[in-house]
Amino acid sequence: MVVTTTISDSDQHLCSTFASRYARTSLPRFKIPKGSMPKDAAYQIVKDELMLDGNPRLNLASFVTTWMEPECDKLIMDSINKNYVDMDEYPVTTELQNRCVNMIAHLFHAPVGDDETAVGVSTVGSSEAIMLAGLAFKRKWQAKRKAQGKPYDQPNIVTGANVQVCWEKFARYFEVELKEVKLREGYYVMDPGEAVEMVDENTICVAAILGSTLSGEFEDVKLLNELLTKKNEETGWDTPIHVDAASGGFIAPFLYPELEWDFRLPLVKSINVSGHKYGLVYAGIGWAIWRNKEDLPDELIFHINYLGADQPTFTLNFSKGSSQVIAQYYQLIRLGHEGYKNIMENCMENARLLKEGMSKMGRFEIISKDIGLPLVAFSLKDSSRYTVFQISESLRRFGWIVPAYTMPPNAEHVAVLRVVIREDFSHSLAERLVSHIQKVVDEMELLPPRASVKEAHVSLDDLHITKGEKQNLKKNIDESEKDICRYWRRISDKKNSGVC
Ligand SMILES: *Cc1c(COP(=O)(O)O)cnc(C)c1O
Repeated sequence: MVVTTTISDSDQHLCSTFASRYARTSLPRFKIPKGSMPKDAAYQIVKDELMLDGNPRLNLASFVTTWMEPECDKLIMDSINKNYVDMDEYPVTTELQNRCVNMIAHLFHAPVGDDETAVGVSTVGSSEAIMLAGLAFKRKWQAKRKAQGKPYDQPNIVTGANVQVCWEKFARYFEVELKEVKLREGYYVMDPGEAVEMVDENTICVAAILGSTLSGEFEDVKLLNELLTKKNEETGWDTPIHVDAASGGFIAPFLYPELEWDFRLPLVKSINVSGHKYGLVYAGIGWAIWRNKEDLPDELIFHINYLGADQPTFTLNFSKGSSQVIAQYYQLIRLGHEGYKNIMENCMENARLLKEGMSKMGRFEIISKDIGLPLVAFSLKDSSRYTVFQISESLRRFGWIVPAYTMPPNAEHVAVLRVVIREDFSHSLAERLVSHIQKVVDEMELLPPRASVKEAHVSLDDLHITKGEKQNLKKNIDESEKDICRYWRRISDKKNSGVC
């Protein structure tokens, strides 16, 4: 037997991973490389590059689950190679999905008997669920208009201007006009009265949000149902309601069981919820639930038989992983009502703790309500010296990711910071965050007033120069503002460390 040793072989076996030629050159970015590389080098290189991503546990921007029990992680890895769509091959997985649909439908008070099968489907997230629910409404409306011999080419949906972007996507992709009820300062959800006023004969549904993404507030679905019922009686229409309970669907049933927002209200025909938000499963699962079979037009359901037996499917995608469905079933039976309630109460408690800490600083106005999602949204009472955007940027230094954004029309002038409290955001992390915000704000107080920057922008408007030149100057002003911030931060860092 002839043994040959090539340079790459020796390189592979002798060099440390970091001294190997694989780690010494820049990584392929545009074309698949010609040759292969050893698995340990590939692992290390990819893992290392990912170190520069933020830490998901400190990502307070997101509602999406970042921690699950190790037992569930194990179930997820065990099923990572199962394609959900192969229902005939993996009938148990399909069965688990159906059980989840039943459980969630019952949680939302769907009118089904105790051992009756509910109507619903697992999706990739609330976005897909909303596309499906929206399509069902569009089809039902079109079918009715056709039967009446009326035009059916101008469908619209009524929502608040605070809707999540997936509604705008639905509207654009599926050619439905989005009629948004505008917000106003101090009121950041859809006003049910104004919404019902906007409803016309072309409205396929009114979409209410249980737990606004921007402020966590619940919209008043009960009042909406009341007002819309009245309008339907007066006009002879039968405009239905969809509830986007992406976050609130797993909060309200456990914390506010008396609150009527779901299928207890007759006009609510479908509800979506994100399994990967307070359903407590990692990213990649949502649920669409319909009140009755009649609310899901049969023509949207496809029957496939090339994987085995006849299988009804109603999804936008074909293949997807099974892990999330299995993990959802695990969470529902592992936690039960009791477990979900405990976790949600704890989240609310930590939100309260944070809110208290923020209020004590005296510089913030808390925008989120006591009843709603476990999040704290707050704005600066005085942003003449510094803005919420600067606070957000400064918090990155400690690893925290806290988003800052402006509210939608007509409250664009209000800019807020938002901290979402998830299961894994503990009491001590909340205390830490408060002390870091305090530190950042104390530093910011040392900044020169922003007025000078504002003045610079204003005098820019008076200059008779081209648009491009103005844009360049504007960039310079913004950059120098950032420089000033950095300068002051350095000074205050030095002060804090006792150097000067
Ligand atoms: C998160 C969210 C969505 C989108 O949900 P995904 O599960 O991320 O697709 C839609 N509506 C609301 C109110 C949300 O909070």
